[in-house]
Order: sequence, then C-alpha cells, then structure tokens
Amino acid sequence: MVFGAGSLHRVAGEVEALGVRRALVVATNSARDAADVVEQQLGSRFAGRIDGVAQHVPTEVATAARARARKVGVDAIVAIGGGSAIGLAKAIALTATSTAEVGGGGVVVVAVPTTYAGSEMTPVWGETAGGSKTTGTDMRVLPRVVVYDPVLSRGLPLKVTAASVANAVAHCVEAVWTPKADPITEMTAVEGLRALSGGLRDVLVEAGDLGAREQLLYGACLAGSALATAGTGLHHKLCHLLGGTYNLPHAETHAAVLPQVTRVNASSVPQAKARLEAALGTTDLARGLFDLFQAAGVPTSLRELGLTEAQVAEAAARFKPTDNPVPVTEDLVRDVLTRAWSGTRP
Ligand code: NAD
Repeated sequence: MVFGAGSLHRVAGEVEALGVRRALVVATNSARDAADVVEQQLGSRFAGRIDGVAQHVPTEVATAARARARKVGVDAIVAIGGGSAIGLAKAIALTATSTAEVGGGGVVVVAVPTTYAGSEMTPVWGETAGGSKTTGTDMRVLPRVVVYDPVLSRGLPLKVTAASVANAVAHCVEAVWTPKADPITEMTAVEGLRALSGGLRDVLVEAGDLGAREQLLYGACLAGSALATAGTGLHHKLCHLLGGTYNLPHAETHAAVLPQVTRVNASSVPQAKARLEAALGTTDLARGLFDLFQAAGVPTSLRELGLTEAQVAEAAARFKPTDNPVPVTEDLVRDVLTRAWSGTRP
C-alpha cells in the first residue's frame, strides 16, 4: 500500500517493481486526468486504456474488457476509480492467463481508488447478468499494490462522498458480528470507523480538505480489510438483495439499512459495540450512525431511494435466513426493512 498526496506519480514505479511488461489502464470518466498521467508515466509498458466502466460489472462490459486484454496481451491492469472500475479490473484478472507471467502467473491488479468503497482490499469479485449479481472470492483478483492518493478524491462530490463513506462504515460495523469476526478484525474495524466518521465530519466543513480525504482513504482501506476477513452478514445480504432485485443504488442503500440492522444486532456484541461507540463519539451506536448519515445528507430511508412499501413485504418474504447473532425470521427482516423504508430514527 502506498499512501500520500501525489502518490499517483508512484504508480508506474510500482508497476515496474512488480516486473510487469504490459499494463492495461481501466479508468472511470471522472479519473480521466489521473489516467492520462499514469498512461504517460507507464511509457512502453502502456498497453491500452478502457474508459467505459459501469456499476456492478455487467457481463457484456466484462466480456469486452477481457477480449481487449487478451488482444493487447497484458500482465497487469491498473484500475483508477471507484468500486466499479476496480470491479472491472478484477473481472479481467479472474479469467485471464498471461503470456508474460508476473510472480507465478496471471494478470495482476494495481488499484488506485478514488472512492471509499474498499473493494481494493478484498479478494471478492462480482459480475451482473440478467439483473442478477454473482459474487465470489478468488485471490487472483486481490490487488497486488494499492495506491491511495487523496488528491484524486478531493473533487468527489459531497453526496457521493457521504454515500461511499456509509458503504465503508457498513464494512466496519458488520465486521464485528459476522460468524468470521475475530479480535484483530474488530480492532481494524474500530479504527476504520474512527477515521471514516472523523474524515466525513471534516469534509462536510471543507470538501477539499486534503487531510480529511486522506483519513477517509485510510478508513476505507481498514474497512476493506475488515470486510475481507470478516465477510458479510445480515446487513450486506439485505443490501445485496435490495440492490439486485429492486436496482437500488449500492452505497446509499447501506446508509438506510445499517442503523436498523445495528439496532437489532449490536447488543449481542457488547464489547465491540462499546468500542465502536467510542470511535464514533456516541453512546448509542445505531442512533449515532443514523445521525451521522443524516448530517452528511445521505438518504436514510429506502422510500427516498424508490422502494415501495409492497416491495418491503416482498423482500422480507424472499430473504433467506443467514447466520446472525439474533435469529433471522421473516418478522425480524420485515421489521428492519419497514424501519429502513420509513427512515425511522432507531
Ligand atoms: P462507483 O465506482 O460506481 O463510483 C461512484 C460514482 O462516483 C461514479 O459515477 C464515478 O464515476 C464517480 N467517481 C468516482 N471517483 C470519483 C472522483 N474522484 N471524483 C468524481 N467522481 C468520481 O461506486 P463505488 O461506490 O465506489 O463502488 C460501488 C461498486 O463497488 C458496487 O458495484 C459494489 O458492489 C462494489 N464493491 C465491491 C466490493 C468488493 O469487495 N468486491 C466492496 C465494496 C464495493
């Protein structure tokens, strides 16, 4: 991991240090200028660029990107952007076989995140076909190098920033109660929440505050690490169902659902709850999260995101029970979703 303002200029050096011969750049439109810099610095290692990135890695986009990577013959993908750009790079790495092998084979990913989703720290990939998203875990997609340059996210609009932070906060909070939770991950998650909530409060005062943007990237890195080890639980599975079935926006859905799942689950993990509350500066974790998201202007109700009341009942009936500290019944899911739908303060 490379941290610091201006670290974009170290990407080409990191690519070289990996022994990469040809690198394909995948960049969101918003990261065009950064991609220009990397393209120029890669010199003879630059093998081409893909600018068309779509949310949730549609299969047709992934298929075209894989064909392009094969055609130009690459052994690395440099992804610059949010979870969508990194997701596309992961999709290429998942199936690629390289002619110029780096460190034992395949195509390596170098990630330069410009949002706070945390995907760069996980070996989780996802691809969407026919409205349904398939995810899996494969170490080939875990980025080899991650470059965190706060200058790149300084212009991320406040609304997108706040929703993206809510996504990262959800990784931290859920990491303390999943079946795979462990004490080290808990420490990572608590520090992640401290950095994310502090950074968010600071960017609300001054959107271009570089120190705050750096805190947010540091928090996103910890959040992604926590997600990578603890995996997902009730909260992420609910968001996945809502996003996949009703096409709700990924990051915003977390802000509406997390406070309600926290209200139900947090007292089952009292020590972690107390630590997370101290990190957030609150005496009630669920309310503290709700208030933080409200203050940041992220929608805290699923109604605002376009879900109907009838879909709440439908989603509750569809939801498959999952391992959770509190038994997951249809009644519990309906209660959580109804509160998330109306945006009730926990
Ligand atoms: P995103 O990558 O789609 O970016 C959100 C929006 O912000 C886009 O419109 C993008 O163009 C814009 N943007 C990005 N950087 C910008 C910048 N610096 N300045 C201005 N605009 C900028 O969204 P996201 O929330 O980062 O990622 C969501 C995706 O990531 C989802 O598909 C989600 O499932 C996935 N995800 C995966 C993992 C994992 O571990 N695999 C973890 C978290 C999220």
